[in-house]
Amino acid sequence: MKCLAILGSTGSIGVSALNVVSAHPERFKIVALTAGRNFDLLETQIRLFRPEIVAVQDASAASLLRGKFGTAGPEILCGASGLIACAAQSRAEMVVSAIVGAAGLEPTLAAIEAGKDVALANKETLVAAGPVIMSAVARHGCRLFPVDSEHSAIFQSLEGHRRHDVRRLILTASGGPFREHTLEALAKVSPADALAHPNWNMGRKISIDSATMMNKGLEVIEAHWLFDLPAEKIDVHIHPESIVHSMVEYVDGAVIAQLGIPDMKTPIAYALSYPERLVLDLPPLDLCRLGQLHFQEPDVRRFRCLSLAYQALRMAGTAPAVLNAANEIAVEAFLAHRIDFLAIADIIEAVLSQHQPSPLTNLDQVLAADCWARDAAWAVIAARSHGDTR
Ligand code: NAD
Ligand code: MG
Repeated sequence: MKCLAILGSTGSIGVSALNVVSAHPERFKIVALTAGRNFDLLETQIRLFRPEIVAVQDASAASLLRGKFGTAGPEILCGASGLIACAAQSRAEMVVSAIVGAAGLEPTLAAIEAGKDVALANKETLVAAGPVIMSAVARHGCRLFPVDSEHSAIFQSLEGHRRHDVRRLILTASGGPFREHTLEALAKVSPADALAHPNWNMGRKISIDSATMMNKGLEVIEAHWLFDLPAEKIDVHIHPESIVHSMVEYVDGAVIAQLGIPDMKTPIAYALSYPERLVLDLPPLDLCRLGQLHFQEPDVRRFRCLSLAYQALRMAGTAPAVLNAANEIAVEAFLAHRIDFLAIADIIEAVLSQHQPSPLTNLDQVLAADCWARDAAWAVIAARSHGDTR
């Protein structure tokens, strides 16, 4: 029985992870759950999975839940300290990091520092704090298992091979809902259009990131840290069917890929049960019925966020944390109808161009860069809304 803590249990990944757990009750026990504001779903999850400890974002939600469960219920905490307690102080052997955005960073680091293995969905943690996270993983002797489907595919395609035989990684990208849009059409898309992803059903922020292709940019940085390869050895191919989840090319020209229908339960289950594979009730991949798979180069003229991410990776140090934070603010502003779709890249570019990267060795430096970039991004947005688009 593996004891699990799920951070962000009410989100798209959290719910899929609990579905995997429900299908294998003999394998897993949930000891901790955390959620932001969706208490109705959290309440249902508490009744079903009976965790020992729970955390929610604010104190009023925590006291509401305490009222519902009384003394027979779990310990119910709130705020950042509650998240950290669930990640680090619960009986969990593995922590599923599935909070969205930089909010996932501190609890994920706390889990690593407590020596827990981490199933990592929250890519923003590695983007913002790659060197800090990887050195903590090495220091505390725990393991980081990728949940992101591309990184799980690469992890699987590396099994049984020597790392120095790798020539490059090829991350696949669906291209999102606007793959065929012209720049003129992109200028007019609404948040509702951008939230409708063709292949994956995901949270709001990652859906916008997929539409701008910043998601793939964040994944390039995530792959850099997980697999210790430079930007030049990480390529992106557009693959609209999302069947080939990513590939590894070796020095002899062999390319090893992992394929499957697009369902996050497969990479989640692999992270939870590695090196074993769990039986999952999913429809089989029917390549004969699909007939064709397509691949093309990404168009970085229309999807500038992808090249901004490569730029931040090359700038190194604090630059990826700045890219990530500026992106979070730009996405928030787009979802609030304050900026148009193409302005997301403009804002990130403006913030990156104002930034002098410095080396990153500890959490305080990450948080300072993150905070600076959020302020800088809001300032750029405010200047634009006053007609000053310099
Ligand atoms: P989501 O928005 O559906 O869920 C996010 C979860 O985090 C929810 O439980 C929410 O309540 C919680 N949360 C949000 N803000 C919080 C805060 N400030 N403090 C505490 N809790 C907070 O997101 P998602 O789509 O499940 O994505 C989660 C992470 O997984 C993201 O980093 C995303 O990039 C990554 N990811 C998602 C998918 C996918 O298919 N959804 C695939 C690969 C990677
Ligand atoms: Mg992905």
